[in-house]
Amino acid sequence: MDPVRLALTRRLVTAFGLDRDLRVVAAPPAGDSTLRLVHREDYIEAVKAASADPGSMHGQYGIGTLDDPAFAGMHEVSALIAGQSVGAAEDVWRGAALHAVNFSGGLHHAMPGAASGFCIYNDAALAIARLLELGAERVAYVDVDVHHGDGVQAAFWDDPRVLTISLHEHPGTLFPGTGWPEETGGEAAEGSAANVTLPAGTSDADWLRAFHSVVPELVADFRPQVLVSQHGADSHFEDPLAHLAVSLDAQRAVQWACHELAHEHAGGRWIALGGGGYAVVDVVPRSWTHLVAIAAGRPVEPETELPEEWRAEVFARGRRMVPGRMTDGRWPVSWSAWENGYDPAARVDQAIRATRNAVFPLRGMLP
Ligand SMILES: [Zn+2]
Repeated sequence: MDPVRLALTRRLVTAFGLDRDLRVVAAPPAGDSTLRLVHREDYIEAVKAASADPGSMHGQYGIGTLDDPAFAGMHEVSALIAGQSVGAAEDVWRGAALHAVNFSGGLHHAMPGAASGFCIYNDAALAIARLLELGAERVAYVDVDVHHGDGVQAAFWDDPRVLTISLHEHPGTLFPGTGWPEETGGEAAEGSAANVTLPAGTSDADWLRAFHSVVPELVADFRPQVLVSQHGADSHFEDPLAHLAVSLDAQRAVQWACHELAHEHAGGRWIALGGGGYAVVDVVPRSWTHLVAIAAGRPVEPETELPEEWRAEVFARGRRMVPGRMTDGRWPVSWSAWENGYDPAARVDQAIRATRNAVFPLRGMLP
């Protein structure tokens, strides 16, 4: 979670001049009453205690662990990140913006009562909770981070107003070990959670096939008023913490597809978040610059060369190799649609079938 990935993304957005086509807003940090929409009061107090005295926590509430070390100011910075997603939710709901992006957000592992997987406050869940508080009746959440969006799913497990869909590497090979197709929502909200478990090694065509075989039909059926999507860049083949083989070009295609879904089914109301992504120079800045560009209505063509000023910045940070273009050379990515038939022996098709069979009938849809 080296913050250089955020600095380099911001630099790249600016180098392309995208900041001239959008409004850059600094929302206030999320206050206690907002944090309590998702998080337990005793947990918030524990984060504050660790923030003031990092040495005081030794694993309680998941704080002071290898993944979530305590550090001075951790409450303030985590509340600031959460505040940006909550601010995005408020602006999009009130019509002050049609789309909003917070690429420092997408911290989807934080649980109501515990830190987890580099995440302290769950800004994605908080944005959704704020939308509900403002009167939203249906919010769809689509998570394409390589890891299961477990914290968001947990926050709305029993709430039929929120549809959570997560595509991730198989729980048998990756943290957090949840996100099975059978996880379909609590008793009061059956069919409100969908999980697609992608086999390690899944590449562009299969990743896009999985997305398009599950997400558009569910979103169309649900008719959300707002779409919230999480775009963790760690599905990439260069990512050091996971095992999928997705390119920047496929990530861009899914960003584009989320944008389209928001317009088709949610009146255009779209909140896009970052997430994981540990190839902090080669992948994350390019991926999330594409996301910002799509949201700004000024998409960057994949063949575009990276601006010299950005490359110089990366060299100045001691890197010898810098990506040259906004593509991995796989554009346009082709994939085949589920309606054209499936292969019972293909592992990705088995995963898609398991999800469709588990969730679609609960919603009265044909699997
Ligand atoms: Zn991740």
